[in-house]
Amino acid sequence: MRLILVGPPGAGKGTQATRLVEKYSIPQLSTGDMLRAAVAAQTPVGVKAKEVMDAGGLVSDEIVVGIIRDRIGEDDAKNGFILDGFPRTLAQAEALDQMLQDSGLKLNAVLELRVDQTKLVDRIIKRAEDAKAAGEPVRKDDDPEVFKQRLEAYNRDTAIVVPYYEKTGLLSVVDGMQSIDEVTASVESILQGLDEKV
Ligand code: AMP
Repeated sequence: MRLILVGPPGAGKGTQATRLVEKYSIPQLSTGDMLRAAVAAQTPVGVKAKEVMDAGGLVSDEIVVGIIRDRIGEDDAKNGFILDGFPRTLAQAEALDQMLQDSGLKLNAVLELRVDQTKLVDRIIKRAEDAKAAGEPVRKDDDPEVFKQRLEAYNRDTAIVVPYYEKTGLLSVVDGMQSIDEVTASVESILQGLDEKV
């Protein structure tokens, strides 16, 4: 199963991806997590990406496409993967298509977590509070001002990916304003429908 989760920051992509990892035993490929690891390790990519990420902007297509190309080729991704936070631009979507085509692979589905953006800032404040309460580090880019920049980047550069996949017939829309468990149930019922089609 090869899936993409798309939706604005704070829509719940990471939470749902974690659940899908358990259910389908395929890895979650989060470019955000990979970039944060690169920043922490101060790799050349991390050093380049840090400033952009801290400001809520988008890292260059070249960097993230390179990261995904390497990651998709690893052994644990052979049976499928869940892309979380990639593609985030039309150029990334096109590069992914090319990559998959070159390897003779196909996507099974693109799930859009559709949310009310006016409620997202509250959600992100809660995410920061929960992380703090759990003794976990709070993401710098979950600061409300930086978060607004991330939301702008989504609307400016990423939202266009949704109609791109709609045209291919791969897109399913999930109401991301439901509870976490309800979103999971909606996602599972869509994926079950795919299994039945095969
Ligand atoms: P995320 O954890 O998906 O919210 O990503 C955190 C940050 O990493 C984003 O705000 C971007 O700065 C950067 N990032 C993650 N994925 C991508 C991508 N596919 N393209 C460009 N920048 C990305």
